[in-house]
Amino acid sequence: MTTYRELLQQTKAEIDEIDAGAARQLDGAVWIDVREADEWQEGHLPGAVHIPRGFLESRVEGVAPAKDTPVVLYCASGARSAFAAKSLRELGYDTVYSLVGGFTDWKRNGLEITMPRTLSPEKRTRYSRHLLIPEIGEEGQLKLLDSRILLIGAGGLGSPASLYLAAAGIGTLGIIDADIVDETNLQRQIAHSLDTLGTPKVDSAKRTIEGLNPDVEVITYRERLTSENIDRILDDGWDLIVDGADNFPTRYLVNDASVWRGIPVVHGSIYRFEGQVTVFKPYEGPCYRCLFPEPPPPELAPSCAEGGVLGVLPGIVGSLQTNEAIKLAAGIGEPLVGRLLLFDALATEFTEVKIERRANCPVCGEQPTITEYIDYVEFCSR
Ligand SMILES: [Zn+2]
Repeated sequence: MTTYRELLQQTKAEIDEIDAGAARQLDGAVWIDVREADEWQEGHLPGAVHIPRGFLESRVEGVAPAKDTPVVLYCASGARSAFAAKSLRELGYDTVYSLVGGFTDWKRNGLEITMPRTLSPEKRTRYSRHLLIPEIGEEGQLKLLDSRILLIGAGGLGSPASLYLAAAGIGTLGIIDADIVDETNLQRQIAHSLDTLGTPKVDSAKRTIEGLNPDVEVITYRERLTSENIDRILDDGWDLIVDGADNFPTRYLVNDASVWRGIPVVHGSIYRFEGQVTVFKPYEGPCYRCLFPEPPPPELAPSCAEGGVLGVLPGIVGSLQTNEAIKLAAGIGEPLVGRLLLFDALATEFTEVKIERRANCPVCGEQPTITEYIDYVEFCSR
């Protein structure tokens, strides 16, 4: 029979231990804290990632995909990390160290530690289904809570987007819309209700969001976006724009401003049974003007008569926009940059079209010809 002490001695003999001084000299090492969540929350080593011992084997490839990456493991005292090091060796990691003395000695020697920001018990409960996803987890949820997202429009696309962004815990939502809620909106604009008929859409949406999630701060702009107010609104500081505008003058304004300021735009549009979604990420992918350098000539302009739209379509397209926005805010997944996703509701069919940046784009191209805002007059073919 082997005792715990003997097993630990044996294990330590089979692995490499490292002291704090030598560990700090390692280039490009991944530091993994294998302690439990409550220990991590009381402080950890700067730059370390947290993978509790029980999840180490299943999650390590997420933080150290290459098996030749140097890995430094630590726990409270150097025992759990010794067993963990042995396990990583068996997984094929060839440069694995267990930190001698663990977090306890590190702290006792006066070395720098990081106190993690953590979610309150109420937030842990509210966002528990996000916390259970390793790609999001507590760190990702904190990123969402820190995010500031500006919604252009509180109508068909802005309604589902604002509600799902709020539910996801996006900390600050800005909403621009000049309109008043009317009866024809209720067929699809789910942020509004009979109770808010006749009130500004921004106030109605704010009320719905606050009823859903008090963690979200809502900043309202009851105005139509123009060259006069766009800089003032963007000066409030936004990480991301979700564009649910239904007219081209606004799209061009949003595009030009976002390129100049380097703010990604999640673009969505809908007509009858058809929807489109893409992400315009300045200088990494095309912008709106790479696709449509100028507004259409009057004879090709869309009709200004209400186009008609299947009520659920903005729900689908606005939700796809929200999916992109959450991924960008959390820094996960593959955004729809350079890809235009088309949805046909009648056929229930998605089609993806590659879209490219154009060197001669008047805004993001090599020699931009548009360097000031342009207020286009919205014209119609009939
Ligand atoms: Zn462009």
